[in-house]
Amino acid sequence: MSDLDNFDDLAPFTKLVSGGRRKEWTGAVVNPPVWRASTHLHESTAALAQAPSRNEDGRFFYGRRGAPTQWALCDALTKIEPGAEGTVIYPSGVAAIAGVMLTLLRPGDVVLITDNAYDPTRSMGTGMLADFGIETRFYDPLDIAGYEALFCDRARAVLIEAPGSLSMEVCDVPQLARIAREKGAVSVLDNTWASPLGFAGLEKGVDVTVMALTKHVGGHSDLMMGSASARGELYEQLRKRSQDLGIVVSPDDAALALRGLRTLGVRLRQEAESALTIAHWLEARPEVAQVLCPMLPGSPGHDLWARDFTGGCGLFSFVFKGGTMADRNRFIDALKLFAIGYSWGGFESLVVPIEPTRHRDVMPWPPQKRDEEDRHGVRLAVGLEDVDDLIADIEQALAAMKRA
Ligand SMILES: *Cc1c(COP(=O)(O)O)cnc(C)c1O
Repeated sequence: MSDLDNFDDLAPFTKLVSGGRRKEWTGAVVNPPVWRASTHLHESTAALAQAPSRNEDGRFFYGRRGAPTQWALCDALTKIEPGAEGTVIYPSGVAAIAGVMLTLLRPGDVVLITDNAYDPTRSMGTGMLADFGIETRFYDPLDIAGYEALFCDRARAVLIEAPGSLSMEVCDVPQLARIAREKGAVSVLDNTWASPLGFAGLEKGVDVTVMALTKHVGGHSDLMMGSASARGELYEQLRKRSQDLGIVVSPDDAALALRGLRTLGVRLRQEAESALTIAHWLEARPEVAQVLCPMLPGSPGHDLWARDFTGGCGLFSFVFKGGTMADRNRFIDALKLFAIGYSWGGFESLVVPIEPTRHRDVMPWPPQKRDEEDRHGVRLAVGLEDVDDLIADIEQALAAMKRA
């Protein structure tokens, strides 16, 4: 196998398998070895004197700028994000969001954050960013006029997430990004749910795409990492700020993330298929008021998902018809194959109770509110188990809930 020169023409799964495997990094083996290194050695004082002025990707200088294991991961992530100049990796998804915000925003600026953002993103706005003199305005991504009205001269950045955290509604990302650009703000998309395989963010008009690699890219619930990808100048700014912050990811974790990345495509496809099967099954159950799953027809934003997305994943939510919080919790406690835990995107199924009203300023819960009584939610992260076993598990847990 020689280094590929027609990479852009390849289909996504082929890119996943081939990205980052440059001969100079892998040598005679398949995977780039784990280069554990703080010190990089230089040939001569002349080479040393030249090195800092060539602060570019893929050059040895000092451990904080990474070595081939991290470079291979960045390269592979860039290869699956059409339009990206490069990718910066961070020690967690939250660190990636913080790194991007600290690159784009200055004291006095305004940032618009979607009301259904991942909760730590919301508290970053009202906490750290507020401490730095940056004002956060939460917007409802389904209310375009309201969103537009929040812009002002100081609005510098917009954070979008699709689908929304917990409530899973899909918004019109291209339109939100276009408006941000017209208003002179940089748009940032948390694309953890779909990954670039399911939503090509930069191609759809977003300026920066962020992923929690902790989830699907890692894929095995054993590492924390995040990434941000962008076009030319913006990418250089992100990279520089990350170097200023001293951000570096261990080569061991980078190797694990690379291992996960190779199988991302088939895992996402299988998870999404099982999730949709379970979503259909739940929709027909008398205990369930609403299923919030972008791939499911009738779910909030499904039409936008069908228009803009090329894939999904195993993460979705549903709301019980009536019942109490104790009923909902009894259901969760009775599940045997879905373990209780935060995070998602691993090979195994997980479940958590959700109470989104605690994390919302302007959006209603549940979406498309029907009945005040229907409010106790569950988020499922469907893994790679056989879907019939997962459905049988949910069925027995519903029975256990009603028995009490
Ligand atoms: C988990 C998650 C993050 C944060 O990732 P960590 O690696 O856990 O810090 C960010 N955004 C979304 C949508 C997430 O689900």
